[in-house]
Amino acid sequence: MSGAKTAFSGQVALIATMHGKDTVLAPPLQRLGFTVETADGFDTDRFGSFAGEVERQGDMLDAARAKARAAFSHSGERADWVIASEGAFGPSRIAPMLAEAKELALAWRPADDLEILTRQVSFTTNFGHLDVAPGADIEGFLTRIGFPDHALILRSGAAVLAKAVTDRAALDRRVSGAEAPVRLETDMRAHLNPTRMGEIARLAENLAARLAAPCPECGAPGFGRTGVETGLPCGGCGAPTDLVAKEIWSCGACGCSERRARGDGRAVADQSECPLCNP
Ligand SMILES: [Zn+2]
Ligand SMILES: [Zn+2]
Repeated sequence: MSGAKTAFSGQVALIATMHGKDTVLAPPLQRLGFTVETADGFDTDRFGSFAGEVERQGDMLDAARAKARAAFSHSGERADWVIASEGAFGPSRIAPMLAEAKELALAWRPADDLEILTRQVSFTTNFGHLDVAPGADIEGFLTRIGFPDHALILRSGAAVLAKAVTDRAALDRRVSGAEAPVRLETDMRAHLNPTRMGEIARLAENLAARLAAPCPECGAPGFGRTGVETGLPCGGCGAPTDLVAKEIWSCGACGCSERRARGDGRAVADQSECPLCNP
């Protein structure tokens, strides 16, 4: 790493997360010049955990904000920025047969309450479960979810029998010794789920890119895409389609915004995507 001074040199970014996410969140922030600290001994599980002992409060952004604020006060308010991230997993709204991973990262600047957000939705996840009776064949499921590199949570009804299970012999004992069917469920905590960790690494790069983009009006960090406008014209008849026509970029500090061309440079929709040409 070079010693070149950047916009964030000398500023402390506090990472409010457990489960080893700092290993992928920290490097892109360090490249921006931040001194990265992690909120040590800070239990983010009380804000909602995947094992379901604590019901997650509010939506993902609410949870990230609560985490960031708690870590900031836990640190004695010694940070210029606080970074928090959240994930949520479930069936996709678009393709219900597929599991979907939603990830969100928040960079919060307490001094002026500036928030910079990145969100990500992908099908790159092993999220899933299988209900098994003793003697059932679980090989296919284990292969599909990447066991034992990816851990399992074992449940019986509402009770959690074990978490962070990566030992095959222990898994077999639990299943064969159970009186009721056991649910094998993917453990989504980042340090037990390399697929998820990879997705958070991608998220971290996007957050850093966003932080590095200053507002053209006021110079505050975090200028970036916050919305879209649909209506991309059909290349055949010119009618507006449901496809994205413009991106809306805006600043969270001064509120200025800009309409920009699509990032991929696409200016027209295909006739096959047009409601008039292809009803
Ligand atoms: Zn058309
Ligand atoms: Zn601005």
